[in-house]
Amino acid sequence: MSLVLRIALPVPLATLFDYLPPASGTAVAGSRVLVPFGRSKVVGVVVETDVPAQVGNTRLKRVLRMLDDEPLLDAELMQTLAWAADYWLGAPGEAYANALPLLLREDKALPETREPSWQLTIAGRSALDAGSRRGGSRALLQTLLAGPLSATELDATLPDWRAAARRLAEAGLIERAEPAPSATFFPAAPAHALHAEQDAAVAAVTEAFGCFQPFLLDGITGSGKTEVYLSLIERTLAQGRQALLLVPEIGLAPQTVRRLRDRLGVPVEVLHSNLAEGERARAWLRMRSGEARVVLGTRSAVFTPLPHAGLIIVDEEHDSAYKQQEGFRYHARDLALVRGRALQVPVLLGSATPSLESLANVEAGRYRALHLRSRPAATQSPQVQIVDMRAQRLEHGLSPALLHVVGETVARGEQVLVFRNRRGYAPVLLCHNCGWHAECPRCEHPLTLHAAWRKLACHHCDLQAPVPSACPACGSQELKPQGQGTERLEETLTAHFPQTPVLRIDRETTRRRDAFEQLLDNLAQDAPAILVGTQMLAKGHDLPNLTLVAIVGVDEGLLSVDFRSSERLAQLVVQVAGRAGRARKPGRVLLQTHHPDHPLLRTLLWQGYASAVKELLAERKQTGLPPYGHQVLLRCEAHQRAAVDAFLAEACAALPDTSKLQIAGPMPAPMPLRAGRQRGQLLIEATNRRDLHAAVRPWSMQLAQLPSARKVRWSLDVDPIDLY
Ligand code: ADP
Ligand code: ZN
Ligand code: ZN
Repeated sequence: MSLVLRIALPVPLATLFDYLPPASGTAVAGSRVLVPFGRSKVVGVVVETDVPAQVGNTRLKRVLRMLDDEPLLDAELMQTLAWAADYWLGAPGEAYANALPLLLREDKALPETREPSWQLTIAGRSALDAGSRRGGSRALLQTLLAGPLSATELDATLPDWRAAARRLAEAGLIERAEPAPSATFFPAAPAHALHAEQDAAVAAVTEAFGCFQPFLLDGITGSGKTEVYLSLIERTLAQGRQALLLVPEIGLAPQTVRRLRDRLGVPVEVLHSNLAEGERARAWLRMRSGEARVVLGTRSAVFTPLPHAGLIIVDEEHDSAYKQQEGFRYHARDLALVRGRALQVPVLLGSATPSLESLANVEAGRYRALHLRSRPAATQSPQVQIVDMRAQRLEHGLSPALLHVVGETVARGEQVLVFRNRRGYAPVLLCHNCGWHAECPRCEHPLTLHAAWRKLACHHCDLQAPVPSACPACGSQELKPQGQGTERLEETLTAHFPQTPVLRIDRETTRRRDAFEQLLDNLAQDAPAILVGTQMLAKGHDLPNLTLVAIVGVDEGLLSVDFRSSERLAQLVVQVAGRAGRARKPGRVLLQTHHPDHPLLRTLLWQGYASAVKELLAERKQTGLPPYGHQVLLRCEAHQRAAVDAFLAEACAALPDTSKLQIAGPMPAPMPLRAGRQRGQLLIEATNRRDLHAAVRPWSMQLAQLPSARKVRWSLDVDPIDLY
């Protein structure tokens, strides 16, 4: 029996692969290797070395080449990834692939950790003076006259500079410049004097430096959580250690990055999916080498190497963006805690609306709660009011009372946010003559009307269709948009308040990389304005002149069947409401609804989030739902319903026969048809997490072998956050 390397390959199979060691050199765990796989070559990560082979010698192939001399992933990350693949029942190779920036998953040498830049040579200067070059070459010479520029900077100023750079470099007119060291060139802004509650929070976490201890920082929007993070990161840096700050969305990043840089006076690495791949890989490598000390990033940044870890912070810990919903379905908040334990550092979870999971962990004594109850900068908490929509004459979904208050607010020179969590013009296009409505044939779901694009679009599968000029069923011209999306509200408000700029902020208006930030920058000026937006706007942007938040159309959330919808709705309402009155002016919140007496809304508005979630937690406890019970969801889809049914039936029959599991299904998914595929699911629940894993782990290995598995796509979701 020969000794082999056990290697994780980026394929969706729940196994590691054995290879003979490379002909020369010694591969170590955590390093990357190039191996033959099928007819191609793939980059894998060595997980174990010198292990006995599981198959006979004849079938073993040899590693082609080592890509790293030393581990790229350190022991802690390797251990965490193995744990994660096991916990979320993922393919190990996909877990490792998630941890590495895309560029590092390729068969290439590691990029320099600093981006090289280009500068003029003396010959280049003369050429420019002599005017001997034309076109793109001349433009590049001129651009570099002011000083060296990096590829990223050149991309921004001179989009097609690369061909010119090649020509000029060959002619000796430009050359690579030494990258500027990322020195401490940012001025450090003075810190606020912390108020008593902030001080207590900082002291508690500082005391836990060097040990694993989770904290939940529970503080309303504007209560100074970010100040607490800054102060703690400062202390982490002072100890020569690294800090990781996770945020749910890149929309939040620019403002926070600016605050971090201004305060800390050190470079802040940023990691998110909108970043150019080179930049991402470099930031990751700078953290790995210890050259960089602070990283701010979205979900996948939880995999950043932290050889000198001091502190991990997860901001807006309740946010569902932390859960990856495809491929390797991990939860970044939960993984942050696992890393905190392995690295022996405190983990601080912050939120104005903590998740029920984290609150239950506080209740059970696993997390320590820290509270910020007051708002340092605001004079008072916003005043909240319900607008009863019943029996009102609505103007495109907006009640007269609401429009009146909007008018008063902009007349005072202040800003208004109208929140509606639906993009497009109208969610339904209906024939008033026969009742036909436009529907996605692939999802059997109404198509959303997008007026500016003159299109109907399916928000579930991206199908687009032209807007019919007459009803396809009866030929009538009476096609009417039903309901309101942000686009329609924008139109209505523009017509109603012609003197006031109306700004729509949703996925359509912010498609470009920095459009979101630009839109918000325009608003930082204190001119009156009306913002219309989806939940992108619910997140921590500081708009000091925003004094009114009008929440319209949350009723869908009150009626949903998903057991998490009440929690989500409560979080959304509180987060959106938190946008009002962040500076010295008092804020006001209007919530327009057809259900003014709904118990959740009443508790939320009169007693606050803490009381509302206490009731929700009690309900969950009574019904044994998460966080008091644990779930694994098997999803399945195929073109034929029969294939889905056959697979789920076989899967269900293969489950171990134990009274510790409760099984719901097989049943159709809440959306039984999507993008032309039939969908079904099987939900497995248990009171005890360990029982659930013990039963499901071996079963998950069997699923791929089921005869019916070949005809379907299936996936497992451990701790699913929605049952779709
Ligand atoms: P959160 O992250 O909880 O929304 P922030 O940390 O952004 O709150 O603080 C809200 C506002 O209050 C910011 O403008 C911040 O500069 C200010 N602030 C926070 N802490 C203090 C303090 N101790 N003294 C004065 N202003 C503060
Ligand atoms: Zn019709
Ligand atoms: Zn569709």
